[in-house]
Amino acid sequence: MSSSNEIINVAFIGNPNCGKTSLFNDYTGAKLKVANWPGVTVEKKEGSYKFRDKEYKLVDLPGIYSLTSYTMEEKLSRQYILEDEVDVIIDVADASSLERNLYLTLQLIELGKPVVLALNMMDIVEERGMEIDIHRLPEMLGIPVIPVSARKKTGLEVLMHAVAHHKNKSSLEKLEHHHDESSSTKHKHNHHYECVMVYSDDIEDMIDVVTERLQVKYPDMINFRWHAIKMLEMDDEITERYPIGLADIVSRSYELDIINQKYDFIEEVIQECLVNKDKKAHVTDIIDAIFTNRILGLPIFLAIMALVFFLTFTIGDSLKGVFEIFLKWFSGSTRGFLGSVGTNEVLISLVVDGIIAGVGGILTFLPNIFILFLALAFLEDSGYMSRVAYVMDSIMGKLGLSGRAFIPMMLGFGCSVPAIMASRSLEDPKDRMKTILVTPFMSCSAKLPIYVIFSQMFFPKHALLVTYSMYLIGLMVAVMVALILNTFDKKKSLHSLLIELPEYKAPNARSIAIYVWGKVKDYLSKAGTTIFFASIIIWVILNFGTHGMVTDMSQSFGASIGKALSPIFAPTGLNQWKIVVALIAGIAAKEIVVSSMGILYGIGNINSVAGMAGMSAGLAATGFGALNAYSLMVFCLLYVPCAATIATIKRETHSWKWTIFAVCFQLGVAYFVSTLIYQVGKLFL
Ligand code: GDP
Ligand code: MG
Repeated sequence: MSSSNEIINVAFIGNPNCGKTSLFNDYTGAKLKVANWPGVTVEKKEGSYKFRDKEYKLVDLPGIYSLTSYTMEEKLSRQYILEDEVDVIIDVADASSLERNLYLTLQLIELGKPVVLALNMMDIVEERGMEIDIHRLPEMLGIPVIPVSARKKTGLEVLMHAVAHHKNKSSLEKLEHHHDESSSTKHKHNHHYECVMVYSDDIEDMIDVVTERLQVKYPDMINFRWHAIKMLEMDDEITERYPIGLADIVSRSYELDIINQKYDFIEEVIQECLVNKDKKAHVTDIIDAIFTNRILGLPIFLAIMALVFFLTFTIGDSLKGVFEIFLKWFSGSTRGFLGSVGTNEVLISLVVDGIIAGVGGILTFLPNIFILFLALAFLEDSGYMSRVAYVMDSIMGKLGLSGRAFIPMMLGFGCSVPAIMASRSLEDPKDRMKTILVTPFMSCSAKLPIYVIFSQMFFPKHALLVTYSMYLIGLMVAVMVALILNTFDKKKSLHSLLIELPEYKAPNARSIAIYVWGKVKDYLSKAGTTIFFASIIIWVILNFGTHGMVTDMSQSFGASIGKALSPIFAPTGLNQWKIVVALIAGIAAKEIVVSSMGILYGIGNINSVAGMAGMSAGLAATGFGALNAYSLMVFCLLYVPCAATIATIKRETHSWKWTIFAVCFQLGVAYFVSTLIYQVGKLFL
């Protein structure tokens, strides 16, 4: 084997939140999402790293607690390390909670592939004054153990060095256990020299019997012992794939016994290797006593969200002035320049009234979007997200959902696309479907510009309150829908909250920067693509009619479409052709509702005092008042999700039927709630 150009395939595996993705990013320079709640990584991601002549192909996998195959993450990760060409498994463990992490480690060792244990978060271990016996641990586990810190970037090269060195050693190093061996002499193997994890005699005997059968029937099988253990656990996948007449040997599943014996061994390891336990008082425990308190938990969550939107609104608004000046100058000078070089009037109108008004108008909301995502990143990386799931668990339980389903919903405040993808961490497929159906009701960042504009135009004194009410209405509608679905659901599944509460961490500046920059980039590229093209299309349909170019917009194609559909909207108070056109356009992306308003009302910068004044005058002239505005905001909050979200729903559910149902359902809910608000409102105003 030549040492140069050698490629080593390495898979990162470990519990959620132990820092796999952080490590992966350190090595590969990738910018994958890191956050402090389980279920962030839902797909395997590949990257590469070079060190001393060797190339390492690294794979980041979703976090798992064990090698069973109950959740989608477990299935994906297990399948990958079992079947793919993985040379070495790096088991990433959070060294500050070693006991919990070692369970998966024992299962990985049993697999028989080369495993290297990366003890991550050593910075926290040191900070807390914990001490781990780094020499005893590998002796007991029979695998190399390398202390690292993904955050401080320590131990990274040593880890890869160990991987290269360990690559071809699937057999375990010499094991030194201090068991009382005399009691197990009746057993024909001396397992303590062969395997790390030795079970009680009755289980070991059964493993031997199953192994013999497997050897006869499937002589090519790799790692008989692992398969035998899985058979005793009655693992569905393995027992189906290798039928050996298991029923003659065992009458029940030994899963619980096997789990318990593994934990007994872990206790031994911890006793010997964890010299100094955590001495510092747990900050996490103190904070959690308040944040996850049964009574205070929910009000604290609502207050935190209110604070987030308050910051988004006020800071975002104070920054927009800069954009305003720039945009005014830019559209003015573009018009001047194009005029001076003798550009055709139609083209000037397209550029200035179409593209700049549409795209530029949307760019002025960048500060709001930036602050919103900064706040969400902070909540995610600190570990608060999992607390929300925990706090919401009892409420969600009444809706027939587990608390974990609240994480995708909460992410929906940012964007529905990743939120819907995060629903993969839900075990029950029915839970997933329900969660996917209600997540788009959570008000995403793209709807923010709509609230900013309409609440300031029509509720100048209570703009903030009106906006916050949108978020609450979205939350309430999601809850109601889940509740209604639950009453139809005959076979109710029992839910237990399988969520780990990760420790609070001071958010990492780099992770947050990566996250926020990713979102800002998405927003900018959306402005440059979807909104750019939508602006052109809208300008065209508003400036052309059956007789060619029109001077009066109400003679255009757009007007004809809007006028044809507007009677349907009468009960909602939105029966104006311009609004209808904006709503249809908004299906491409929700920001387009606002950008097309700019084009429809001929306003250069909609997010400015003059722009809003112009538009509210235009609207008021047609009898569109505060109540109509509120109905519009609610309709935008609830109606058909954007094209990207629809595509994601299709991809995640693998069903057009479900996707179309979801779209029609959301449209129906929006229509119903807006009508309710408009009609009831009319009685009082
Ligand atoms: P994954 O779920 O295993 O992919 O874990 P992530 O890479 O997403 O990290 C989970 C959390 O732990 C994030 O908040 C990280 O910033 C944090 N983290 C990861 N590695 C370290 C480390 O070595 N030290 C500290 N203090 N925090 C870390
Ligand atoms: Mg991850």
